[in-house]
Parts: sequence; C-alpha cells; structure tokens
Amino acid sequence: MAEPSSAGLRASYPFDPGDYLFERYAARHRLAAPLKLFYLLRPALPRGVQLAMRRACVPLQRSRAFPAWPIEPVLVHGQYEHLRQGLKGTDAGIPFVNFWPDGKRFSFILTHDVESGKGMDGISRLLEIEQRHGLSSSWNFCAEEYPIPDAVFNDLRAAGCEIGLHGIKHDGSLFASRRSFDSNLPKIHRYLSEWHADGFRSPATHRKAEWMPELRCLYDSSFPDTDPFEPMAGGCCSIFPFFMEGMVELPITLVQDHTWFTILGGRSIHPWVSKSEWIIRHHGLINLLVHPDYMLTGDRLELYDRFLRFLTQQHGGWHALPVEVAQWWKRRSLMDNGAPGRRVDTANATLSPTLALAREDSSGIVFDLDALRERDRHFRSAGNGQEPAQPASPLED
Ligand SMILES: [Zn+2]
Repeated sequence: MAEPSSAGLRASYPFDPGDYLFERYAARHRLAAPLKLFYLLRPALPRGVQLAMRRACVPLQRSRAFPAWPIEPVLVHGQYEHLRQGLKGTDAGIPFVNFWPDGKRFSFILTHDVESGKGMDGISRLLEIEQRHGLSSSWNFCAEEYPIPDAVFNDLRAAGCEIGLHGIKHDGSLFASRRSFDSNLPKIHRYLSEWHADGFRSPATHRKAEWMPELRCLYDSSFPDTDPFEPMAGGCCSIFPFFMEGMVELPITLVQDHTWFTILGGRSIHPWVSKSEWIIRHHGLINLLVHPDYMLTGDRLELYDRFLRFLTQQHGGWHALPVEVAQWWKRRSLMDNGAPGRRVDTANATLSPTLALAREDSSGIVFDLDALRERDRHFRSAGNGQEPAQPASPLED
C-alpha cells in the first residue's frame, strides 16, 4: 500500500490546477465593459443608485459560463479523475492524510468583514448568535476607514475570536496598480504586526494571486471559489485551502450575505445549506463571510441563527478559527516529507492527523475516513519520530 501523503491529493490533477487556483483563466476577461464603467463611477453614486445598477448587472453576471455558480466542480472532478487513474489495477485503495484533523469530514469557519462605523455597532448582535451555538469567528477590520476603540479587539479576543486585516481603506484601490499596492504594503505589514493578525481579507475581494504572498501573513481569504457578482468576478474553483508560495489561501465558499440578500433579493438560507451539503459531501471547507453592516435586520439575524444551527447539526464538522485551519493546512503539507503523526499544537486545540482511504465503489470515488483505524492508531502515535509501518511509495508519483 502506498505511503500516505497529502500532496497526492493536493497537487496531482490531469491538468495544471494553478490555472484555476490562481485565476490565470480570467486574466483578460475579468470585467465586462459596462461593469468596468460602473465600478469607475460607483464612488460618486448614491447608495440606492449603486444597488439598482448592481441588480441590473445580475443577468450579465449570471450569464458567465465559467466558473459556474454557485458550484464550480472542475477541481473536485479533476481530483477524482486523478484518483481513478491511480486506483486502476489495485483493490487496496490509496491511503492519504485526511484533509481535516481528528478524523473530521469537513471544516467550517465563520468570517466577518467590518465595512464601516455602522458595522462596528453590529458586532455584538452577530457575536451573541454565534455564542449561543458555541461557535467563534474571525473579524476583519479596515485599519483607517473608521475609528476602532481598543476595547473592540480585546472583547473579541476574550470571546475566543480572531482579528484580521481588511485593508487600509475600503476604496478598492489596493490592487488597482503595482504602484498602489506597493504604497499600501508598508502600512499593511505594520497593522498586521501591531494587531497580531495572522490573516488578510482584501476590500471588495480584489486580488492578484502573484502579489498575495507579499502581504506576508499566514493566510489570505480573498478568493471566492466562484462568485460572478463581485467587482472581480471569477474565483479559484477550490473548496480546499491551497498555497500561494508559503501563504495559505482559505477560499470563501458560500455566497456573501450582501450579494444574496441585497443584490439577489434572497429570503432564505437555501443557497448556504445546499452548497454546504455539496462541500460536506466532498470533504471541503465551508467559509462563510457575513458583514455586521448588512445583517442587522431581524429577518437576517434569524436566518443566520438558523444556518448556524444547521452547521452544528452536521456530523463530523471541524469548527475552527481561520488561523487554526491555516496552521493545520501548513502542518498537513509537511507530512509529505516523512513526518506523519506529529501532533499539531494551535492556540486552542491539539489536533491529530488521521489516515483516510480513497477507493472507488459503485457511486464513484469515496474517501473512507474509518477504513484505516488500526493503522491510524499507529499513525497517531508515531509522533516520536518513528517511521510508519508501511514502506514508502509516494502517492504523488
Ligand atoms: Zn469589505
């Protein structure tokens, strides 16, 4: 049986996954001309006009063939196709380091971007709902868009939450040019350090894969897996974290609150639930972005409450802070190099890697999280530098 590895399930596709992960496919066709004009004029327009124009753009945005919305399966299918090839001629299955620690089936994180002073006032309402379900979240703040009293960070951290940076200003200028990016970088580095922040979320999810590692933080979370409605339409097509050089990317995998409720006129949690069910089925990361600026109506708070209840009722979910997921993903990637079984210490938990088995049955490729229980015990206890029982034969070859 092959040596377990996370790289085998991460890097081997029948095509170059970087074309999707880093949005190379979108390099030239990101914005249709009318949308470009809209985003140029937007700052000068009253909010009601902005919303009306964004709604008018919806049919055009929805007409994009790729990436499909709300689910773009190209990388999930690519992974299965790769495994199908690897499984030909073997009945044993392919062992791998499970995507998530402690034998979990999927992971979910809750993230918030605070857009304005109004959002500052809404923090406690969302926090209270999360605490009711025993959940914690990350809060991303713009450094110079509104005043941030010291007590806000302290209170959030005391509640088990994480602080991240949502750019310097919320004006969409960060990635407008290399000059603009360079002029923002020193401040970004300074605020990340002063705030002891590990993560970055770009204002309006503007992004450029090649530049992201220069943010110099543990993780970024600015790439949707698929989102035709953002100023930069497109997405990385991944429901798993991935690396941009040494930095972890945690893709946003559910439709944003503002997009769903305000632009698309949604009145239910249906798209969050149905997409989550798909992500869970494929063992991915559920990453929800909700803004305290837009969620403060009774209806929306009630829907948020209902969705959190749904998440906590799903079997086998690993709920963590984004920083913990990013740390885990980094450690998991090191297990390719002959160091399985190390325990992963994070701020709030000690996590154990476990083994899973990829195999094919009549329904297609499945990841069996319990098939290797015996071997798993050995794997879990091999943190003392022992080699695992099976001889090595790297899966990624
Ligand atoms: Zn924002």
